[in-house]
Amino acid sequence: MKVAVIGGGGREHTLAWKLAQSPKVEKLYAIPGSAAMAEFADCISIPLSDLEGIAAYCASECIDMLVVGPEVPLTEGIADICRKKGLAVFGPDRAAAQLEGSKVFAKDIMKKYNIPTAAYASFTDGHKAKEYILQQGAPIVVKADGLAAGKGVVVAQTVEEAVEAVNAIMEDRIFGASGGRIVIEECMMGEEASLLAFVDGEHIVPMIAAQDHKRIFDHDKGPNTGGMGAYAPAPVVTDPIRQEVIKTILYPVVAGLANEGITYQGCLYAGLMITAEGPKVVEFNCRFGDPETQVVLPLLDGDLADIMYACTQGTLDEDMVKWKAAAACCVVMASEGYPASSHKGDVISGLEAIDGDTIVFHSGTAKKNGQYVTNGGRVLGVTAVAPTLQAAIDKVYDNVDRISFDGQQIRRDIGAKGLKHLQ
Ligand code: ATP
Repeated sequence: MKVAVIGGGGREHTLAWKLAQSPKVEKLYAIPGSAAMAEFADCISIPLSDLEGIAAYCASECIDMLVVGPEVPLTEGIADICRKKGLAVFGPDRAAAQLEGSKVFAKDIMKKYNIPTAAYASFTDGHKAKEYILQQGAPIVVKADGLAAGKGVVVAQTVEEAVEAVNAIMEDRIFGASGGRIVIEECMMGEEASLLAFVDGEHIVPMIAAQDHKRIFDHDKGPNTGGMGAYAPAPVVTDPIRQEVIKTILYPVVAGLANEGITYQGCLYAGLMITAEGPKVVEFNCRFGDPETQVVLPLLDGDLADIMYACTQGTLDEDMVKWKAAAACCVVMASEGYPASSHKGDVISGLEAIDGDTIVFHSGTAKKNGQYVTNGGRVLGVTAVAPTLQAAIDKVYDNVDRISFDGQQIRRDIGAKGLKHLQ
């Protein structure tokens, strides 16, 4: 099988790394890929914005399956364009990707199909939004409707902060057209976790639960980032909670969409808050999470190419998806200034000193004179797999400490919440 991975970040490096292990994959492409992916895949330099160009290239190369990593091309309809050319695509079409692309759409679907989530109201009028905030009081959550790269959400502790967020999103349009509509939500209390699932349009096979660490500093302090590390399995998602998520969230949303005439196929990501009343949806994403992928896929004891192809054909079977009895921990190494900015071109040293079974996924690197240098906010995701979470944490930090670059930022508490549950 010829497989093309679309994207070039840490998540796509992980997807390509796992796909490359499949005996079914004869040739692997990455569009546009990265210097690190070029070590085992053919990187084709077509920009992610050129959907027609990607589809035409994949058709001309007789690619058997495209695996789409990032959300933007999915919400712009890359799957629709490629399927029209007869290509098999792992990833939802434009209509289904609205589950991530529009928070109003996602909330309306959840309301219609009784899927547990925060109470909300949506607005296109800033005055009405502010009146609603005054009525509800704080804490309260303000969200731009469209994609804003993880920055379009303000968890406001005061009414003033919430009103300021409405002004910034709707009047100053700090997120552009994404701020034409907003969602205002009840602030849920609890611990967050992510449950990703393979979906073939009808059948759903959940993966193991993972926990991301969104804030830049230890103990969940500082601004939100794309994610500073993750571990799996996440013990906060106990077996009964997992069953509840499958029954009250994953199946109802896929069936609800089907009832609306929308088929969901690909990876469905449920961002959850485990509240005192049970698990509730914080958000849906229409693709793998980053860095959750970096801990979930190393634990997958199955052929990812087979599983993904089965999703494209509507033949997904739970027997295809098995998990290793182990734990994985990924620590993200970010560049100076992240998340506000990022520093490029710093030489990364120590990569050759990593243990053979520790995996270094590249999120934002480039190669200069044969050496890897920083090339983005999140630079590396170092993942260790071990029999227990404690062992995975110890091993990952032991390896992270062998790598260095100027201005590096690392959280030292990845996995600590998981250990607390296990104690
Ligand atoms: P963007 O749309 O900008 O890409 P996003 O999709 O990452 O952002 P969310 O996942 O909806 O945005 O929210 C980001 C974070 O804000 C969540 O991980 C969670 O910590 C917090 N959050 C969002 N909604 C709520 C809520 N209703 N109650 C409490 N916390 C929330």
